[in-house]
Amino acid sequence: MTPDELRSLIRTVPDFPKPGIQFRDITTLIGHPEGLAASVRHLAEMANAVGAQKIAGMEARGFIFGAAVAVELGIGFVPIRKPGKLPIETIGIDYALEYGSDRLEMDPTAVGEGEKVVIVDDLIATGGTAIAAAELLRMAGGSIEDALFVIDLPDLGGAAKLRDAGVNVRTLLDFEGE
Ligand code: AMP
Repeated sequence: MTPDELRSLIRTVPDFPKPGIQFRDITTLIGHPEGLAASVRHLAEMANAVGAQKIAGMEARGFIFGAAVAVELGIGFVPIRKPGKLPIETIGIDYALEYGSDRLEMDPTAVGEGEKVVIVDDLIATGGTAIAAAELLRMAGGSIEDALFVIDLPDLGGAAKLRDAGVNVRTLLDFEGE
């Protein structure tokens, strides 16, 4: 399936989780066997082309695509977790949200020094989550040069910000507007 065909499998839910947000819901994409397989294949081709040695994905939807891409390429997967989930001493990073802040944590031993880790997530909006993940993975010693997303919301400028942070961004499809 082409990225354009994949776009038609994404459900748009207006006013979720709050008024004015168009929620791009991948539940319908991943429930479609060819849609899921094609999304993973496209992402895996991109990750392979940039020489990924490991894939990192953010909780929770980044786990779905990221782990599948890692399996497709025969490489390991690094979960970037919400706070308090890992049973070990973690490293973490706090980052600002529109209202308040959030935190990501990871196992500091999950990435080798200089290892080329490619970030995979379902969607990039403001880029706050991906920029924090890149910084955290760099703290762990990873070389973070590429991030892949199924969906880009270009009007929110996240991909541009991530590029400014030294990370190349590739996406399968975009939705204009927020
Ligand atoms: P951000 O940090 O703003 O780039 O947002 C990152 C995460 O929030 C993405 O990984 C998505 O899972 C989720 N997200 C943000 N905006 C949307 C949206 N309009 N539709 C669906 N998910 C969204």
